[in-house]
Amino acid sequence: MIYLKTDEEIELMRAANQLVGKTLGELAKHVQPGVTTLQLDKIAETFIRDHGAEPTFLGYGGFPNSLCISINENVVHGIPSDVSLREGDIVSIDCGTYLQGYCGDSAYTFCVGEVDPAVMKLLKTTKEALYIGIRHAVDGKRLGDISHSIQEYCEDRGFSVVRELVGHGIGKKMHEDPEVPNYGKRGYGALLRTGMCIAIEPMINMGKRHVVFEKDGWTVRTRDRKPSAHFEHTVAIREGKADILSSFDFIEAVLGEKAI
Ligand code: MG
Ligand code: MG
Repeated sequence: MIYLKTDEEIELMRAANQLVGKTLGELAKHVQPGVTTLQLDKIAETFIRDHGAEPTFLGYGGFPNSLCISINENVVHGIPSDVSLREGDIVSIDCGTYLQGYCGDSAYTFCVGEVDPAVMKLLKTTKEALYIGIRHAVDGKRLGDISHSIQEYCEDRGFSVVRELVGHGIGKKMHEDPEVPNYGKRGYGALLRTGMCIAIEPMINMGKRHVVFEKDGWTVRTRDRKPSAHFEHTVAIREGKADILSSFDFIEAVLGEKAI
């Protein structure tokens, strides 16, 4: 069942998603060699609570922390720990907030210091693919138009698309219908309608598409241990142009020219 949101609900979702953006912006100040992923998690949890919201991920399905932090070959759902970031790492930080009854969800893959140019290309391509998918997130198109555009853009550049994990509808709950795959057929799938809110989140691998689910019950990594990138926005479907409810502006204000 796909719930269409009213304009009032979309404004509440924008508030939750803007807070996610601000939290990621706060984290951008701290992503550097030597910081542990648990330190980043605590910064985010404090920031979210100080802004009157709750971290959605904490306790979700038993998840132990406020952020999913996935380094290098880890695709998504990494658990914060006392592992430190190292020069040359890439680190996907996925953040969710619950504010005034609605969810925000957005993710960004950061560079730790200088990153290999081939890996930079993976990051740029994944971020570009997100915005290409968003271009199709308009009233009258089909879900498969988003999915296909992301897949085509990434595969044309020699990267591969994770199949086991997908984007999702979002609203009062973090995961609502429909699923939003990053692969698919143009012209197929659910009809997109004004008021649908979805999280689009390409998870793109440098090597092969296959992933392994680690024994910790959460972390998903590439089978070939090559790097993976992940960018996510929550958007509302509108006529003509998607309304992006989350934001990378706060991150990019901190990173300046070093932004992806
Ligand atoms: Mg997310
Ligand atoms: Mg999501």
